[in-house]
Amino acid sequence: MQLRVRSLETVLSEKGYVDSAALDAIVEAYETRIGPHIGAQVVARAWNDPEFKKDLIEDATKAVNSMGNVSPVGSHLIAIENTDETHHMVVCTLCSCYPWEVLGLPPAWYKSAPYRSRAVIEPRKVLSEFDVTLPDETKIRVWDSTAETRFMVVPMRPEGTEGWSEEQLAALVTRNSMVGTGLALNPEDVA
Ligand code: FE
Repeated sequence: MQLRVRSLETVLSEKGYVDSAALDAIVEAYETRIGPHIGAQVVARAWNDPEFKKDLIEDATKAVNSMGNVSPVGSHLIAIENTDETHHMVVCTLCSCYPWEVLGLPPAWYKSAPYRSRAVIEPRKVLSEFDVTLPDETKIRVWDSTAETRFMVVPMRPEGTEGWSEEQLAALVTRNSMVGTGLALNPEDVA
């Protein structure tokens, strides 16, 4: 795979379709500056600011871009909020579409064939393998990403975090909790 990627890059560079320096800069940005901490800031703000949460659910692209200091999000981001009634989980059954701008590089499992098929066939079982056990009465809704739509989950705010700052709250928001394969951490997990 690496060899194929390198060969493709060489051909595209030789033909002048891509600039290697620009590619390096993009890779560097996603490896070092753009990551799940951006999504975590978004969630923390939504937990603390009902007005922002309303805007986020209405139009995530607009709400995230209004925060400043983030890599601009394309017009395809949708935020979905977990509740006691419904747990949301994100997959791309076709390939590996992922909200890069807010979550950074996708984990290997997200791109794997078993996750992509099993997330829709047996989501509860997949969740249990991620150590997430939900009450039987909680519905699980699986969202299939496409090139046009990317999803980020707003996990439920953990108990015992009243009065916490956005910075403190953001430390509880894991990448998996924003894909729906995890829950936000509890205060005792970060104590
Ligand atoms: Fe995809």
